[in-house]
Amino acid sequence: MHYKIHAIDVKNALKNYIWLLEDTSTKEVVVVDPTEASLVSHFCEQQQLQIKQIWLTHWHRDHTEGVQALLADQNIAVYGPREELSKISFVSNPLQNDDHFYFNNLKVEIIATPGHTLGHIVYFIEEIDSLFSGDTLFAMGCGRLFEGTAEQMYHSLNRLAALPIQTKVYCTHEYTLANAEFALTVEPHNVALQDRYKEVKMLRETEKMTLPSNIELELATNPFLRTESVEEFAHIRGLKDQF
Ligand SMILES: [Zn+2]
Repeated sequence: MHYKIHAIDVKNALKNYIWLLEDTSTKEVVVVDPTEASLVSHFCEQQQLQIKQIWLTHWHRDHTEGVQALLADQNIAVYGPREELSKISFVSNPLQNDDHFYFNNLKVEIIATPGHTLGHIVYFIEEIDSLFSGDTLFAMGCGRLFEGTAEQMYHSLNRLAALPIQTKVYCTHEYTLANAEFALTVEPHNVALQDRYKEVKMLRETEKMTLPSNIELELATNPFLRTESVEEFAHIRGLKDQF
């Protein structure tokens, strides 16, 4: 497989990662949710990569701020949610649920995951077992409900939970340790969760990245994927907001 995924740690207060998907045979890349253009340009120059596409999961500034500066002197296709076009008008290829497109010979499938924002979408690439989940599914957590309802988010997460278990989850923020601490208050006796907490705590002591996760691990340790009703989900989401 001639594809490789890189992470840029933005080191901002929100702990964003910018993911880059490289076709190593052509040195072309996709940039996912570019928080900051200069970090991306610098990385691409160093690695001699050429940006071919930008993928946006939702309109929030920490996911889209860098787009316009990256577009300035290059021919880049910008993919993003059709439903949020009024807020991200620089999107050239609007997408909705069940759409698909290609990055070189990789088929990319779109799943609409309303909840965090109403138009939020995620990018699933079966051939490389990868999901760019934006602010919908986090390691042991999920995004806040800024625009959507608990019911919408519950269904969005269920769609992601049904993906092949080996699917790697590339979410946007390094919130894993705080999410694990909260998850343990929900399921203190979950052994898989206890083990993962220890592992994550060690990684974060030296500021190492805890991502990507994968669906199998999330099914075992993410309390938001382990709820059995909208009501239960809404209750846990409410507790997390106060945590
Ligand atoms: Zn967001």
